[in-house]
Amino acid sequence: MAESVTGTSGTTGIAASAATGGGAGTTGSVTAVATGASTSAQVLHQPVTSGAAISPRTWADVAEAGKRANVPAGLWMRCESCTAMLYRKNVEQNLHVCPECSHHYRIGADERVAQLCDPGSFEPMWQNITPKDPLKFKDVKSYKQRLADTQKKTGHADAVVCGKGFVKGRGVALACMNFHFLGGSMGSVVGEKITRTIEMATQSDLPLVIASCSGGARMHESTLSLMQMSKTSAALARHDQAGGLFISVLTDPTTGGVTASFAMLGDVILAEPNALIGFAGPRVIANTVRQKLPDGFQRAEHVMGKGFVDRIVHRKNLRSEISRVIDFAGK
Ligand SMILES: [Zn+2]
Repeated sequence: MAESVTGTSGTTGIAASAATGGGAGTTGSVTAVATGASTSAQVLHQPVTSGAAISPRTWADVAEAGKRANVPAGLWMRCESCTAMLYRKNVEQNLHVCPECSHHYRIGADERVAQLCDPGSFEPMWQNITPKDPLKFKDVKSYKQRLADTQKKTGHADAVVCGKGFVKGRGVALACMNFHFLGGSMGSVVGEKITRTIEMATQSDLPLVIASCSGGARMHESTLSLMQMSKTSAALARHDQAGGLFISVLTDPTTGGVTASFAMLGDVILAEPNALIGFAGPRVIANTVRQKLPDGFQRAEHVMGKGFVDRIVHRKNLRSEISRVIDFAGK
């Protein structure tokens, strides 16, 4: 655009370039120059008028240009808690915890397994159990379609990864929930896999570790989801009667039907710092009781103060803490 203007000379040149390049409202200023007295004046004025015809540079543009700095996308991130600019790789190497403020980011089931187990020791189980849609549930999208999309996105059949592995050399039955799969919601597959993990722990006399990360029961499966609460709880009762150990790890968020069933039934309940732990969300409660909720309401520290959590453990110490509890329990 600028080239075409400087390349032309004389009245018609300016008018032509303005007509081709200028937006609405620019023609007026160009015409004024075109009807001017001298050609030299036109030439002198040319950069000014043609500049206006193109689009005047504003301070907003400068700010915009500043934003478009030539940095590859995703290399840096801003901490959602302390707003510090962080090199993404540093955060990943730091177990997805902000190095500045210790904010614990949500991680998927695979990362959780990798963080908890000794390298290469985890054996996934029951990966072929896939969810069905017995109720033909449909909201804006059909449940069937939603499942297909989420399975493709996450590479998992459902919202939990179960199996056995070693934590600092101690064998464990392990289940890790995946919030990235429909909010880590518990449908019949999640309930079934967790129940099988519990039963495997009971039969093999292994300590059981479940890392919860869930919004609760899966509404798409209605009462079939709710039934998983009693199913998992009954399996845990049998595990307990057989003298088994269950370490429940609550991560952000652990809410709804998961809190109301197995997550709160641990012999020892550990929680990550600042994890949201509760049944109904704080907004629902605030609207119901019509009172201002205390600071940190339903956060791990607050919940520990009420006796629901035994210990808050930084992610980097989870492995040590779990193995210490296993040793303490003589498992
Ligand atoms: Zn931070």
